[in-house]
Amino acid sequence: MRKQYLSPALFHHFKDPVMIVDGSMQYLFDEKGRRYLDAFAGIVTVSVGHCHPEVNRAVIEQTQRLQHTTTIYLHNQVAEYAKELTDRMPGNLKVAYFVNSGSEANDMAMMMARLYTHNHDIITLRNAYHGLSEATMGLLGQHTWKCAVPQGAGVHHALNPNPYRGAWGNDGRRYAADVADLIQSATPGKVAAFIHETIQGVGGAVPLADGYLPAVYKMVREAGGVCIADEVQTGFGRTGSAYWGFENQGVVPDIVTLAKGIGNGLPLAAVVTTPEIAAVLAARLHFNTYGGNPVSCAAGRAVLRVIDQEGLQANCAAVGGHLVEELRRLQGKHDIIGDVRGRGLMVGIELVKDRTSKEPAVAEVAQVFERCKDLGVLLGKGGLHGNAFRIKPPMCWTTADVDFLVAVLDQALSEL
Ligand code: PMP
Repeated sequence: MRKQYLSPALFHHFKDPVMIVDGSMQYLFDEKGRRYLDAFAGIVTVSVGHCHPEVNRAVIEQTQRLQHTTTIYLHNQVAEYAKELTDRMPGNLKVAYFVNSGSEANDMAMMMARLYTHNHDIITLRNAYHGLSEATMGLLGQHTWKCAVPQGAGVHHALNPNPYRGAWGNDGRRYAADVADLIQSATPGKVAAFIHETIQGVGGAVPLADGYLPAVYKMVREAGGVCIADEVQTGFGRTGSAYWGFENQGVVPDIVTLAKGIGNGLPLAAVVTTPEIAAVLAARLHFNTYGGNPVSCAAGRAVLRVIDQEGLQANCAAVGGHLVEELRRLQGKHDIIGDVRGRGLMVGIELVKDRTSKEPAVAEVAQVFERCKDLGVLLGKGGLHGNAFRIKPPMCWTTADVDFLVAVLDQALSEL
């Protein structure tokens, strides 16, 4: 039925696809009742756990009372949620605009940056992923997701500060020099924005080299631009060492975009910015039908409560630390593991045919990915070359889950 009635654009990566019909915290179940450990959380979307009882309760209560009207009426959920969300942001990031997807949030962030600065040019990174609307496709730095449609007017792709594959290793300031060069050579000397993920998610869980963001934020602001952090994958404590990914490099953005884990699976996304930048949208009419609907906001509020009550940021730090340690141990055993990287429960593994040439081991990744599924673990896979595993589980993972994953990976890699 999927083949017959759904767009052929839908892909599933598996030779033998899996059908998931139930979920409970870090586990998923297929239609035959077989249990899988979820290491991908629906692409980092299920933040606090599948069907978390507190999120369920909030959603059911709100659903039974009122599902949706429109933002032209007042409602407590959206206002209280905006306060609770922005209370968790640093600096003057105190105003939220709710939408339904990460692409929409980034579309809005681009527009607000251009309106606020009166500049047009936007700097993004190679290997970036910010969505698949036409505007955000222009920001994308991976050919695999790009279509031959008009996109990216005024957008410039800077060198990716990739500590594993980049020319300057983990020295962020050297990559930042490329941004200065881009501003001088490809723009009128003024830019609207610089946009970045803080660990590139779809790109294969690639962290930005140390010291990169402070250097680039300074250059971009000197050129009249604002800095946009796309926290769609890295937010809400997932990196363990900070609540927001950007805090790991000690910067405070002017605009933050949020989606995926923000609603634990419900359609919810947000643009958070300063009152001054937010004001630019009030010059015209702006409206989003489902944005800020009470049910999604109830879920968003429950997610914030659960993260606090269950200490999930600290859990990500502890369990993620154990994960990276165990994966590095596995790297000592299997030469094919070229790189283990990430923070907290946002981790990537790159398989290479040779550690010196770093030639991507694409077929091997596909084989291990399928085998892990058969052994009961659902991993993520990606990266520009398709040779990276992405491990971004629900934040309720335990060290026992890590040990199971590592045992399964060890077996699958040994069978190669
Ligand atoms: N930004 C990032 C960092 C993402 O990973 C994604 C989705 N993979 C998006 C934006 C786009 O989100 P959506 O699919 O909800 O439009």
